[in-house]
Amino acid sequence: MNSGTGSAIFDSLGVRRIINGRGWITALGGSIMPPEVCEAMAEAVNTYVDFDELNLAAGRKIAGYTGAEAGLAVAGAAAGLLLQTAACMTGDDPALIDQLPDCSGLRDEVALYYLHQTNYDRCYRAAGAKLVIWGEGDGSAEEQLEEAIGESTAALAYVFHPWNSCPIPLERAVEIAHGRGVPVIVDAAVMLPPASNLTAYIDAGADMVAFSGGKGLRGPQSTGILCGRADLIEAARLSTSPYKGVGRAAKVCKEEIAGLLAALDLFVRTDHEAEWAVWRSRSAAIASAVGDIPGLEVRIEEDDPNRQGPQAVVYFRDGWAGASSSAVLERLASREPSIRIGQGGYGDELFISPVTLCEGEEEAVGRALREELLAAE
Ligand SMILES: *Cc1c(COP(=O)(O)O)cnc(C)c1O
Repeated sequence: MNSGTGSAIFDSLGVRRIINGRGWITALGGSIMPPEVCEAMAEAVNTYVDFDELNLAAGRKIAGYTGAEAGLAVAGAAAGLLLQTAACMTGDDPALIDQLPDCSGLRDEVALYYLHQTNYDRCYRAAGAKLVIWGEGDGSAEEQLEEAIGESTAALAYVFHPWNSCPIPLERAVEIAHGRGVPVIVDAAVMLPPASNLTAYIDAGADMVAFSGGKGLRGPQSTGILCGRADLIEAARLSTSPYKGVGRAAKVCKEEIAGLLAALDLFVRTDHEAEWAVWRSRSAAIASAVGDIPGLEVRIEEDDPNRQGPQAVVYFRDGWAGASSSAVLERLASREPSIRIGQGGYGDELFISPVTLCEGEEEAVGRALREELLAAE
């Protein structure tokens, strides 16, 4: 599925192809779209459509896949966060949609657990909302959540992200927020696969959920899906292109919608266990290339919720006198082709995500990693 065959345009620009052992991250190009997705996009190019008609039909498809009342194709999960917030502040009142990001007279606070702060929480603020960070004060987490919700709370934001977990499970957070008449908006950008997560957060009672379309779903990098309560999704739709709301700068085009739907269709038909087995065997190849080096502890981490996929992880043990973790990382990046892997989590360990490796690249990564680990400092 991953071909990594290169691009004449990138070559002509002098932009190097890299080996991505870091995962589905935007900074390294997201994911490689499967042929079915590229074909769907190419097919959509030659046709004019009424955008509302397409958008509503695509939304119904997304609703079907997620078990939500309604869905919407959006310009990435980050746009989803912006639109979730806007929708919770304005509802589908056209005057209020028009008013944002001026929040005068509106409930304009988004409650966010302190460990749920990420690079993306500015997307809530971009809608005009203020963040109310909770969880660092006195009292139990539940007491603090109760306190964070007040007269001005538009939504409780709940984020699923490696290394950022909340002691209150989503179901319970939903109970608490709903008890106060406040909707819960979920950032699940990185939570696909597994496919079961398409429905999990809606099942847990979330009012709106955002997923990236261009990470594990392998749709266009600039897409995402939003799903949830019909009234809130309608508010979100009216707040973005082709309308003039606060989401207008986050436009999705018809080709991207076609690609996103093709990616979803392929994703739910994928044999995820077989794919996992491929990832595991790539990780095993990398681990075995470096597993015998004294002073290192090399593991394949499969069940750690903070590592996505079965990843080879290299820990530097006391007494390790070789190259530092950062030096190895830098030297791999400066090779030709450049090899990008991950660092950190529990400490300065190195990890390799197998999900974005193209076929056969695990051998090259294993060899290069061994060379750089054994190179003198
Ligand atoms: C990647 C990510 C986003 C943004 O997703 P895009 O689809 O790139 O817009 C939002 N939240 C979290 C936690 C993410 O990891």
